[in-house]
Amino acid sequence: MKKNQGSNFESILTAKENKANTLKFLHKKSLPYSKIRYKLLNKLKSCYPTEPCCSPSCHICKREIRLSILTYLKDYFSNSNYLMVTIIDYNYLIDDDLKYFNLKKYQNNFYHRIRNIGINSQIIGCFELDYHQDINAWLPHFHLIIPDNTETIEYLRTVARNINKHSIRNGVRKRPILVQKLSNPIKQISYLFKFMPQMVISYVYKGKRYTRKISLKGEQKVIALVKFDRFGFNNLIFKYGIRLPNFTKNLNRKS
Ligand SMILES: [Zn+2]
Repeated sequence: MKKNQGSNFESILTAKENKANTLKFLHKKSLPYSKIRYKLLNKLKSCYPTEPCCSPSCHICKREIRLSILTYLKDYFSNSNYLMVTIIDYNYLIDDDLKYFNLKKYQNNFYHRIRNIGINSQIIGCFELDYHQDINAWLPHFHLIIPDNTETIEYLRTVARNINKHSIRNGVRKRPILVQKLSNPIKQISYLFKFMPQMVISYVYKGKRYTRKISLKGEQKVIALVKFDRFGFNNLIFKYGIRLPNFTKNLNRKS
C-alpha cells in the first residue's frame, strides 16, 4: 500500500495541520494552569524526524503508527472473514479526571476474562475512551477484530454479560457488546486504531434518540491528550494469542 492511499486516511499535510492545532490548543491561556499540560506541549514540540516523540497525542507520530498497523493488518485480514466487536465495561464509567484509571489493570482484567472462558482465536484490538456529555462521564471500551465464528462471538457475549452483571448506574443505557461486519477492512481498521478520545453527544430526532461523536473541547481535551500520551501506543493496542511487531520501535520518519 502506498502511504497516501486508503480511504479515511489523513495526508501528511492534514496530520501537520492537526498537530499545529493541538499545540495551539495546549498553549491556550484560557485553560487552567497545569504543569502536565505544558510538559506535554514541550514534548510534542520537540518531535523531530530523527527523534520522534512517539506520543499518541502527536498527529505526526500517530499517522506513522497508524500506517504501519494498517499495512501490517491488511494482509493479515485479507484471507478470511472477520468481525469488529466493541465491548464496554460499565463498571469503569468514570466521573473524574481519569487520575486513578489504570489501563494495565483494565486490559489485564479483560485479557484474563477471555482467556478463562476459553477463547482460542487470535484477537487484535484497540483501547478507546469516549466522554459522554449526557452523563458527564468517561466510558473506556475495546474495539476488537475477531474471526467470524459463532463460538468466539458467543464467548464474547458471555464475557460482556458477566463483566456488566453488577454494574449499577441509573440513567445509563447499557450496550455492552456491539458486533459489526468487517465489510470495509481498511476503513474500519483505520477507524479502530484512531487513538483519539472523542465526545459522544445524544440528540432526539422525530422521537428517536441518536448519538454522534464530536471532538473534545476544553479541559476534557487536555485530560484525554495527557492520558493518551501516558498510555503510549503499545499499551493502547490490545492483542490476544498473536504476536505483533513493536510499532513504536519501528517508528522512523524521514520527512
Ligand atoms: Zn511526534
